[in-house]
Amino acid sequence: MVFTSYIVSMTFTWTAHRFVGGALALDVANSVILRHDAEGRRDRFAVAEQFQAFPEAAVRLSAERQDFPDLRPLPEEHRGEFLQLREAIDRYFRVRTLGSEDRLALAELLERIAATLRAATVGQTLDQATARSALRLICEPQPERMKICGHCGWLFLDRSKNRSRTWCDMTVCGNRVKASRHYKRKKTEPLP
Ligand SMILES: [Zn+2]
Repeated sequence: MVFTSYIVSMTFTWTAHRFVGGALALDVANSVILRHDAEGRRDRFAVAEQFQAFPEAAVRLSAERQDFPDLRPLPEEHRGEFLQLREAIDRYFRVRTLGSEDRLALAELLERIAATLRAATVGQTLDQATARSALRLICEPQPERMKICGHCGWLFLDRSKNRSRTWCDMTVCGNRVKASRHYKRKKTEPLP
């Protein structure tokens, strides 16, 4: 039994939860888990198999999947460039979401997008689709809909009517925060 749970914890799959960003460019940025936590940080694209499996999952699970019915993985030698695009996406949108406009971060992102679009590829590849998605987000008429999850730090688009979302995914981050609040309250409540 212990052995079985060990195997399960070692297995990684791209589930619907990992595509809650609402845009492919944000799902790509969110491939880093707990980005600002030195101990908890995990880069899912650092593992070649996970990086190669991402496009097939994005075709099924991304909110923008209608834009890319087919999405080809990138050859391994292009992973480094793609990660630079990913980091430029995260840097610019994170700062913008926190309320300031960083023109240098925007310039860097636009340069990465341009370099990606210039590259000759056959069919729709992950980098091309991600660059187009990032461009749409730059021009998004309601940038205030972009938010940062209060628990895991992922970027996501809040498409709810009253813009009330706090968590990337209520069933994952929302419940974890509720559970830890409950635990803390119990610990600090005076004994009856
Ligand atoms: Zn979250």
